[in-house]
Amino acid sequence: TEGRMPADCLFCRIAAGEIPATKVHEDDLVFAIRDINPQAPTHVLFVPRQAIATLNDLVAADAELIGRLVLAATAFAKSQQLADDGYRLVMNCNRHGGQTVFHLHLHLLGGRAMDWPPG
Ligand code: 5GP
Repeated sequence: TEGRMPADCLFCRIAAGEIPATKVHEDDLVFAIRDINPQAPTHVLFVPRQAIATLNDLVAADAELIGRLVLAATAFAKSQQLADDGYRLVMNCNRHGGQTVFHLHLHLLGGRAMDWPPG
């Protein structure tokens, strides 16, 4: 399930502790860090430990992993009292999606009202 991961993959290095990050969640499959350039009062990235480059590289065997990624994000949103007002979960894919880090991740954005459609 691993597609074209660069040897210097940023989130692999953060997972390995080689680059510092503010971790807000860790379990057997997923970790979460605060985004270095937050686009909302809460901006957290939920990252599978397994390095998968993009949404295009997911296979059926990754179904549990993706479910766990979403459940980690929704549990964290509830823990931060974001659930009632709401929040946004986003996964960017490749150029048109605006993906810049090619290790799959789910953005949790909360704490302000979001616009739709996105830019
Ligand atoms: P993408 O554009 O791929 O959907 O999201 C990548 C995200 O990673 C961006 O929101 C960017 O601000 C964040 N990011 C880039 N470099 C770092 C870093 O070194 N540490 C952390 N915590 N976030 C980063």
